Amino acid sequence: MSNYRVAIIGAGPVGLLCALGLARKGVDSVVIEREPGVVDSPRAIAHHWSTLPGMDELGILDKAIARGFAKNDFALKVHKTGEEIRWNLDVLQGHVKFPFNVYLPQHILADVILEELAAYPGTRVLWGTTFAGLRQTDKTVTISLQNDAEGAFEMNVEWLVGADGARSAVRKALGVGFDGFTWDQQFVATNIRIDLSKHGYARSLLLVDKPNGAVLAMIDNENLWRCAYAEDSGLPAEGVVERIHAMLPRIIPEARDGYALEHHSVYRIHQRNATEFRVGRVLLAGDAAHATNPAGGFGLTTGCLDVFILYEALAAILGNQAPVDILDTYARERKRVFLEFTSPQATRLMKLLLQEEGLQEGLERFRLLATDESARLKYSLFAGNLETPSLVTGRRHSPQVAA
Ligand SMILES: Cc1cc2nc3c(=O)[nH]c(=O)nc-3n(C[C@H](O)[C@H](O)[C@H](O)COP(=O)(O)OP(=O)(O)OC[C@H]3O[C@@H](n4cnc5c(N)ncnc54)[C@H](O)[C@@H]3O)c2cc1C
Repeated sequence: MSNYRVAIIGAGPVGLLCALGLARKGVDSVVIEREPGVVDSPRAIAHHWSTLPGMDELGILDKAIARGFAKNDFALKVHKTGEEIRWNLDVLQGHVKFPFNVYLPQHILADVILEELAAYPGTRVLWGTTFAGLRQTDKTVTISLQNDAEGAFEMNVEWLVGADGARSAVRKALGVGFDGFTWDQQFVATNIRIDLSKHGYARSLLLVDKPNGAVLAMIDNENLWRCAYAEDSGLPAEGVVERIHAMLPRIIPEARDGYALEHHSVYRIHQRNATEFRVGRVLLAGDAAHATNPAGGFGLTTGCLDVFILYEALAAILGNQAPVDILDTYARERKRVFLEFTSPQATRLMKLLLQEEGLQEGLERFRLLATDESARLKYSLFAGNLETPSLVTGRRHSPQVAA
């Protein structure tokens, strides 16, 4: 047995949150990460209000807000007609503890978690180390690892968490399927330097446009914005920069006066979930367990809400304060949340962005948000449905409403 009772594969935000949660409960863990440092490709920036109590419990919420910003205003715009619908989360006041979302690139959130982890020297991140395989008994998981400098080695732990993203090697090593579908579109995510605030842009905007539906969001107060737009998934990696420069002025007319492209990445997008979230002593969390398109920003939000209950459950089991079978509840309930809430909502939004179906019906729903407080409350509370109550105490932070 190694010095660690728990190993976590993947130092993405989900894996690191798991390590921090365990550390705060007195459980040392080791995080195994293939890359030499935190991956900084442009991905999540929106962290829904329902994740904030969990971040607060881990002592990172204030730091995350300080490194990013809190906001609650949104807009949806139809590119062709210019119709723009605006709403905000003010209705959440009095219903939830933190009535706003936090905007912060996920790699900066990872940095915040790592800074916090520095206070727990018993927890270690092994950078440049790739998970290659596993075998397990009813008492132990043996993992095979490959370190860039030191070569192959094995480690024995009591529990393994696979938080190694949508292409999860842990999931594959378990022989677990990844059910669902891959969209015909891919997303091109760009970070661009441009002052859109002076042109009155909402700080997050869903742009309905066929075939290039897009999501725009302000990333910081220094005029850094995210524009992620859909394009045909058959388009090649070569020429993507030329395509971006052709597309951005179409999506954002103000970009014709100039902007700086700082970062870009192309992503295949999926609605998929692991067929099992638990196999024996191995648990899946975050994108390793479920992948969704980025419309609505529910991917990492769901991953955070996986891991907030998972670390607590593992710590309680290791401390003999809870039975092992609460992990079956974890597996069943997190899969249900993804299939009943995360994936259908993100799919509806994506289809609206792409004008694939139900455009008028979808627009009507958003028009109601601007005018009808009860519709706005119901919509704003949606992110609370992504929470599963604590498996140890039964406590939940968010009120639950029908989808
Ligand atoms: C354009 C875009 C925008 C998005 N915006 C949002 C948003 O606003 N809000 C939101 O909630 N979600 C959003 N998402 C989704 C979000 O990015 C993911 O849900 C999130 O990255 C999942 O985190 P994770 O820690 O589970 O996995 P990842 O972030 O993918 O981390 C997995 C880690 O595992 C490592 N790894 C992989 N294989 C191995 C191996 N064999 N051995 C060791 N390490 C390994 C990887 O290097 C990586 O560091 C967006 C996604 C995209 C593409």
